[in-house]
Amino acid sequence: MKRIAIVGGGIAGLTAAYELARLRERSPVQVVLFESSARLGGIVETVREGGFVIECGPDGWVTEKPWARELAEGLGLEGEIVPSNDSQRKTYVLTGDRLVPIPDGMRMMVPKILQNIDSSELFSDQAKLGFHRELERAEELKAAAPDEDESVATFVRRHFGEEVIEKIGSPLLSGVLGGDAEKLSVRAVMAPFVAMEREHGSLIRALQIREKSSQNAIFTSLISGTGALVDRMEAYVPPDWIRLNSSVRSIARDDKGWRVETAHNPEWGLERFDAVLLAAPIDVARTLLQLTDERAAELMAMDASSAVVVGFGFPDASKFSIPPGFGFLVPRGSGSHLLACTFVDQKFPHRVPPGGRLLRAFFGGEAAERMMRCGNDEIAAIARGELARILGPLPEPQVSVVRRWPRSLPLYAVGHLERMAELDGRVRQLPGLWLLGNGYRGVGLPDLIRDARAAARAVMGVSASARQTN
Ligand SMILES: Cc1cc2nc3c(=O)[nH]c(=O)nc-3n(C[C@H](O)[C@H](O)[C@H](O)COP(=O)(O)OP(=O)(O)OC[C@H]3O[C@@H](n4cnc5c(N)ncnc54)[C@H](O)[C@@H]3O)c2cc1C
Repeated sequence: MKRIAIVGGGIAGLTAAYELARLRERSPVQVVLFESSARLGGIVETVREGGFVIECGPDGWVTEKPWARELAEGLGLEGEIVPSNDSQRKTYVLTGDRLVPIPDGMRMMVPKILQNIDSSELFSDQAKLGFHRELERAEELKAAAPDEDESVATFVRRHFGEEVIEKIGSPLLSGVLGGDAEKLSVRAVMAPFVAMEREHGSLIRALQIREKSSQNAIFTSLISGTGALVDRMEAYVPPDWIRLNSSVRSIARDDKGWRVETAHNPEWGLERFDAVLLAAPIDVARTLLQLTDERAAELMAMDASSAVVVGFGFPDASKFSIPPGFGFLVPRGSGSHLLACTFVDQKFPHRVPPGGRLLRAFFGGEAAERMMRCGNDEIAAIARGELARILGPLPEPQVSVVRRWPRSLPLYAVGHLERMAELDGRVRQLPGLWLLGNGYRGVGLPDLIRDARAAARAVMGVSASARQTN
């Protein structure tokens, strides 16, 4: 019988285990899922307390990518799937000490409706003119589209100019990816926009054509939080496949397959497997592969950003008001350590008890790095202080949750896709090895789920076309 090791029980590793559990009906398989911590899910964690549903990591996924929804449906969670409350979709940017709304209808930095830009307080007259000119420069922009990868900042600058990068480009990328627009690869993190440039030159034009028919909400989530995916998959996977508190210390390949060695557990020690699905964070995976393939490990070296998330649940929303919308972004240099804040009860209204209010503060970059060393109370106090400075005095929260996610968001730098293509080539020379997780082909839940299910099927020799949707 085939023996398969999965290293890491985050959403990537757990989804692979779930898919293998489904496939075991067709052909028997023995699986061991090694997870170094005491729980499954990794960055996906939902705390449910006092009627509040607090996401410690992801709070949903982009609707456009179907793979997380398909998984949820397969797990019997179809009744739980909810769109974000897009009638309230408004995001603000902290400008001086005011929250100024991003004009309606923007996709990242690209507006669909230019009239909304004209009436916006966020941009100067010069930036507004730049948006109008982008539409007129379609042919020129199409001809100038480079063959090589470039940074997000260079790409956005070419279309809209410096101010747009500073005011919304950088804060959006920091808020969503914890990354620096000057370093992030546009092909890796904004591929649809690169394709739009190639086809239409003007991104505004491309968006106007593409989104004419789309009525979908931008985000999707689950009523009881993304942690429900973890709970359901954990319940489905045979319990004797799961080893918590079991940190993999080394992996090695020989002519019979793979040897996996765990720390702290003499009972299991060193075991043999036919295949290894490496779904630990890329820093860990890289160390584990170092002796097997030095060049592969070199290709896996990348910057990563840390995150700190603080959730505050308040029992009585009427005690303080917030502007309508999903939350706000904080540009660099605005004197605040915050990167972003979500007004959760307005984005996903079912996440609070009746009348409740839920705020989620997000710190990244250097501020998060420094906060890694602080205690929970200190972090909560910093977060409350920062929020109060922007939103006004806050009452005492009923529930506070603090999570630190060190080096949790790998930064796909310019040239990422080329490096990953070389890495894929090297991994193909190591039969039985799969690399899963957020360091390679996307950081969002849908991409991780798609890849993990595909790897599980491939390892069992089930072709993609033979796959059922769930
Ligand atoms: C604050 C935050 C908000 C986010 N929001 C969103 C969002 O709204 N939507 C979205 O789609 N994505 C979001 N993301 C991204 C997404 O959540 C992550 O990319 C994803 O959860 C990563 O999953 P993973 O399985 O690759 O890694 P992880 O969740 O990091 O799992 C890796 C696991 O490996 C274990 N491990 C480590 N070392 C070892 C070892 N030696 N042996 C065994 N096990 C080991 C770890 O304990 C961990 O459980 C967010 C990320 C962060 C940090």
